[in-house]
Amino acid sequence: MHPGVRWGILVIWVWAWAFAAGAGEESLGPYPSLEQVTGEIRQLEKDHPGRARLLIFSSSAQGRPLYAVRISRDDGRPRPEALVAGNIHGDEPIGNRTALAVARFLLEEDGRDPLATQVLQVAEVLIIPLLNPDGYARTQESEGKAPVKERRTNGRQVDLNRNFPRPGFGIWLPLGYSGSNNPRSTRYHGPQPLSEPETQAVRDLAASHPFFAAVDYHSAAGMIIPAKCQTRTCSREHKQMAKAYRQAQSRPYSIFNRPYWSPLWQGNMEDFLLAESGTLSLLIELGNQKERPGKEKEEFWKMNPRDSTAVVGNNLKATLSAILEAYQITGGKPLCGCKR
Ligand SMILES: [Zn+2]
Repeated sequence: MHPGVRWGILVIWVWAWAFAAGAGEESLGPYPSLEQVTGEIRQLEKDHPGRARLLIFSSSAQGRPLYAVRISRDDGRPRPEALVAGNIHGDEPIGNRTALAVARFLLEEDGRDPLATQVLQVAEVLIIPLLNPDGYARTQESEGKAPVKERRTNGRQVDLNRNFPRPGFGIWLPLGYSGSNNPRSTRYHGPQPLSEPETQAVRDLAASHPFFAAVDYHSAAGMIIPAKCQTRTCSREHKQMAKAYRQAQSRPYSIFNRPYWSPLWQGNMEDFLLAESGTLSLLIELGNQKERPGKEKEEFWKMNPRDSTAVVGNNLKATLSAILEAYQITGGKPLCGCKR
């Protein structure tokens, strides 16, 4: 063998070994560490100054900053605001992947892709990729293996998406999924509504930003769950928004409607944003069977596919379509704070 070839093989071998060792450190790939996610969020502003603005709007129960990025045209014209959020459950990082993909798509495709262009013509989009950094940090530290309770909840072991007030005059069915008053439950709703810094931060953000639309990512049931309405009109408008989402999907999710006359409150963010601020809101359960090929044994991998590409692709334009539909329904004004 020619010495040059031998050296070449050695170099390739060392490179491959180093690459494999580096890859081993990220056992939850493609879901990066909290520091890396934070870096990605900060990078948006560096790459797109004037159009992406970083916002640290509060901090978590364990003192980690909560980041948002506001995406708009750089023309000084204020526009109505929409919200895209993810990962309020710490062990659902597919939500931060999708939210960040939406952010990048809007920033890179404005003026090129018709949907991105139309959305930014009429709206600004506030994106919160990761609403529960404490739960995410525990998910990462345990390589996805900590008990669900520890991964899903915040630093005080509260299920944040059950910690919002339930409207409906306090009448709600105490079903399992509605949240539990048992502190040991994975769906513990906390000592009282809005007891947690993360949910208080959402409340304060919604009070100062009148969002006309919100899309919030969870996983992994492959469903679109509109906020629970209290009137027939509200219910119809939400169905319209959900259908716009579904029609833009190549692998459509099912729509799960809670009837407007039912007491099926969950204490979740969507119901709260609608009841409190009149925001047309959808909860998206990312990931249906077609997006998750193969069988996984570990809960983490059942909820977050090893390759996030299909899920991100199936939900990116759907999110923008739903925002645009909500704009057409509302004219960019939140539905009033009256009974919806
Ligand atoms: Zn969730």
